[in-house]
Amino acid sequence: MPLARSATVLGAGVVGMSVAIELARADVAVTVLERGSVGGGASHGNAGLLVPSHCLPLARPAALLDGVAAILGSDAPLRLRPWQGGGELSWLARLAAACRPGAWRRIAPRLRELATESIGWYSQLAAEGPPDFDLQRSGWLSVFATRGAFRRGLADALRKERLGVRWQTLRPEDLPSAAPGLRGSFVGAILHPDDWALSPDRLMNRLQLTAQRLGVHVRTAAEVAEIEYRGRRATAVCGPFGVLPLDQLVLSAGWETERWLRRLGNRGGIWPGRGYSITVPGGPLKVPLNVVDRHLVISSPGDRVRATSGLDVGLASLDSDREQIEKLRSAAKSLLPHLTWDSPLEEWAGSRPMTANGLPAVGRVKGWENVLVASGHGMLGMSLAPASARIVRRLITGGQAMPRS
Ligand SMILES: Cc1cc2nc3c(=O)[nH]c(=O)nc-3n(C[C@H](O)[C@H](O)[C@H](O)COP(=O)(O)OP(=O)(O)OC[C@H]3O[C@@H](n4cnc5c(N)ncnc54)[C@H](O)[C@@H]3O)c2cc1C
Repeated sequence: MPLARSATVLGAGVVGMSVAIELARADVAVTVLERGSVGGGASHGNAGLLVPSHCLPLARPAALLDGVAAILGSDAPLRLRPWQGGGELSWLARLAAACRPGAWRRIAPRLRELATESIGWYSQLAAEGPPDFDLQRSGWLSVFATRGAFRRGLADALRKERLGVRWQTLRPEDLPSAAPGLRGSFVGAILHPDDWALSPDRLMNRLQLTAQRLGVHVRTAAEVAEIEYRGRRATAVCGPFGVLPLDQLVLSAGWETERWLRRLGNRGGIWPGRGYSITVPGGPLKVPLNVVDRHLVISSPGDRVRATSGLDVGLASLDSDREQIEKLRSAAKSLLPHLTWDSPLEEWAGSRPMTANGLPAVGRVKGWENVLVASGHGMLGMSLAPASARIVRRLITGGQAMPRS
């Protein structure tokens, strides 16, 4: 396949910007079109953890049972919101299909491999010089309040050990020195020492600067309204910026990617998974925390502390964002009471693009010669984006592609 001369990337989240950089490094002329600002979507409000240890997908038989309970419970890890048009049933069906016994055994090594490759990519970027984005090997500490949850955590740690994920247990009496300031009663903890962290906003700023240095044309306030096509080729994108002819098109519009796939006669199975975060001054934490029984992650990007939660699949509201934020605040206050949760720097709600089986959708769009998709990274978009970008680069530049997820 001849080398593509140019590519248009729809969406400037961590995925779109990583794709733009990879393509520009391969001498492809890239334009990124972003409706708002660079990194203004899910790539802004997240915890900033790079977690090869988090490679067991949601879609496992145990998770399905938890998920069914979750539909009923209001404090569950995964909650299905009423879906406009009844789409939640279709998502559940896909989740159930992805829960076939053993399916996760194929998915987990792949997620770990992509996350590990991405950490290498970020490390190389950081080594190229400033501006810094607080990349560090932070580890990730999961703390458990109940014996049942701890038992399940240990079983998962053993499964992941077979994939090379290192871990160690901590006793409750180790926690004051491992996680200073953490309040609550815990029966045990598991440390994954090979997980990393970064500051999402600083990363996005760095990706934008790097892309621009490489000659990428990043257009903000440029919402794509239509794709024009002839036969099996997309020929142009249209919006307030006019009509831009294109060679290759990469759809990386976060959870909204599904809309474009449907317009092109495909179903990507990408759903919005709503999440929440509250950011306060303080930190750094000695180690980012996964408070398992409360379904809460606390990280410390730069000189801030951020609590994140929520995996509400669907759009229409069960609870309002406000109610979810208040639940998050109350949990964060009880866990780290010395921080100023009542006067935060930011409260955020937004949607990440989820697939039912946990694997991102990266590859050529069926039936189209020059359209690719890179989306559906779910809970792991920061962790996986660079490796996905390399797959896109290989597909567009005609190099050997990795097998499609
Ligand atoms: C609470 C929470 C915590 C998380 N924590 C982590 C974590 O610790 N580690 C991790 O790896 N992942 C985490 N994630 C997941 C991660 O944030 C996402 O997977 C990732 O940010 C998705 O990136 P994206 O580029 O696909 O989407 P986005 O960042 O949402 O970017 C999509 C972009 O496309 C633009 N766009 C959409 N439609 C158009 C259009 N028509 N025209 C132009 N532009 C358009 C949007 O404006 C947006 O900027 C978390 C997510 C949440 C919600």
